[in-house]
Amino acid sequence: MVCQMEVIASKQKCFVCNKEVSEGIDVLGKFICEDCQKKLVNLSPFDEEYEFYRQKMIDIWEDYIKEIGYEGWT
Ligand SMILES: [Zn+2]
Repeated sequence: MVCQMEVIASKQKCFVCNKEVSEGIDVLGKFICEDCQKKLVNLSPFDEEYEFYRQKMIDIWEDYIKEIGYEGWT
């Protein structure tokens, strides 16, 4: 008996680092890879990359707000 297993790894582009990976999570409709996910969790304001990641999070959030048509900032 021949059992052929095909692993279909649909790769997605990480919103933060633009790497194409199959492992990751969905954050408000944006795909974020495992590496960035870990990075974000351990990120401190003293980190060199803090501003970069922070800006990415703001981008994701702003896109999301636009999508749902939220206008409650006033
Ligand atoms: Zn990433």
